[in-house]
Amino acid sequence: MTTRKNVLVIGAGPTGLLTAYGLAKQGVHVTVVEERATLDDSPRAMVYLPSSLKALDDLGLLEDAEKVGARGHAFTMRFASGYIGELDHRVLQEHTPYYYTLHFGQHVLAKLILDRFLQLPNTSVLWGTRFNRVLDNSDRVAIEVSTQAGEQRLEADWLVAADGARSSVRKALDIEFEGFTWPDTFMATNVYFDFAAHGYCENTMIADPVEWAVISKINNDNLWRVAYGERSDWSEEERQANVAKRYQHFLPESASYKLERASSYRVHQRCASTYRAGRVLLAGDAAHATSPIGGLGFTAGIQDATTLIEALGLVLNGHDEDVLDYYAGERRRIFLDIVNPLAIEHKRRVQEADPVKRAQDEEGFRKMASDPNYVRNALMNLFALVSTPYSADWRDRLSERDVREPHSMPLFTATDD
Ligand SMILES: Cc1cc2nc3c(=O)[nH]c(=O)nc-3n(C[C@H](O)[C@H](O)[C@H](O)COP(=O)(O)OP(=O)(O)OC[C@H]3O[C@@H](n4cnc5c(N)ncnc54)[C@H](O)[C@@H]3O)c2cc1C
Repeated sequence: MTTRKNVLVIGAGPTGLLTAYGLAKQGVHVTVVEERATLDDSPRAMVYLPSSLKALDDLGLLEDAEKVGARGHAFTMRFASGYIGELDHRVLQEHTPYYYTLHFGQHVLAKLILDRFLQLPNTSVLWGTRFNRVLDNSDRVAIEVSTQAGEQRLEADWLVAADGARSSVRKALDIEFEGFTWPDTFMATNVYFDFAAHGYCENTMIADPVEWAVISKINNDNLWRVAYGERSDWSEEERQANVAKRYQHFLPESASYKLERASSYRVHQRCASTYRAGRVLLAGDAAHATSPIGGLGFTAGIQDATTLIEALGLVLNGHDEDVLDYYAGERRRIFLDIVNPLAIEHKRRVQEADPVKRAQDEEGFRKMASDPNYVRNALMNLFALVSTPYSADWRDRLSERDVREPHSMPLFTATDD
């Protein structure tokens, strides 16, 4: 280990904490800077796809995750015709130990990692500390943060910006967040109801142009996520007041349920124009934002973290910085080539209004579900979110687009913010 070995991580979300933990395990001194006083426990991602299970396993976290999570095997798509297509992860059993999904809130994962992180030497979290601006980004990185005691200067060898989709670090460095915002407003509701007793598996999508929904198990106490689209021209109060009415489409008639919480949010397809600016590396939602249908954004953030842990670990052990450029290019490639188009396709399929296309979608699903090889390939394909390992010739695999400089021409047309 060289003398350059301290890292600042901005953001105590799952991406930041996972990166912080993975680096601290390698003996790096890591300080996490978080503007909130505690972890964010709002209802957000809660499905861990096989690639995430592998990432947690590699970091020694899967055993703990299994203790708090509920296992799921099936994914079903419900079509208006009444057909329910099913893909079962158990077809992967011969190929990977990760032939299931786990279900628990991302804040539970964050807490689990936080506890482990703080047990390691030379680790700390500065709660209630807000990143303001970058003061220096040359031999070392220096930033200004706000605390209750006033402004302070913090310094490190490297900085990981994992401060979410509205990343202040990304904005401070003037890195474009190229893409667009969907016109839709999504409702994320958590509800206690025994969906399993009514024939729902752990991961369900309901395809319908208006009453589309994603229904997923959150834990073994019968807490489930029901996500659906709601009017963007309504106030949050109006959307909240409409939850019971909307539930009539997803829950059996006269069902008795307990709503735990509900919140609405806007959905984006955006990607940072670069994931690296000098000594600053972007990861997770700070680097990319996507529709949550299919759970790919959160899943990609976990893979950003695992790739960054390895890349930064190598550099801190004397490897040249080329491996950080590889991190930036490879993760951007994976977002642009895989996550972004797949998430857009998931959203289209769930919301498709054209009856011809809906019939084609159903026909396609029937074909896929009837062939175990097809199912296996479809599910294994999600491992494509995992980075291709670093090698000195990594640039040959990437296009110019993946390794663009900050401030070059945008790839998408931004509509609004
Ligand atoms: C309502 C909602 C529902 C969602 N549902 C799903 C879902 O079902 N499936 C799915 O896959 N994804 C879902 N997502 C997306 C998923 O939550 C994100 O992909 C995930 O949170 C990304 O993790 P992250 O650690 O990169 O960022 P975040 O979780 O956003 O963490 C960023 C952290 O940085 C902190 N921070 C921000 N600015 C500063 C600053 N200036 N200084 C210090 N700290 C700062 C924040 O307080 C936060 O703790 C949902 C998102 C929302 C909003």
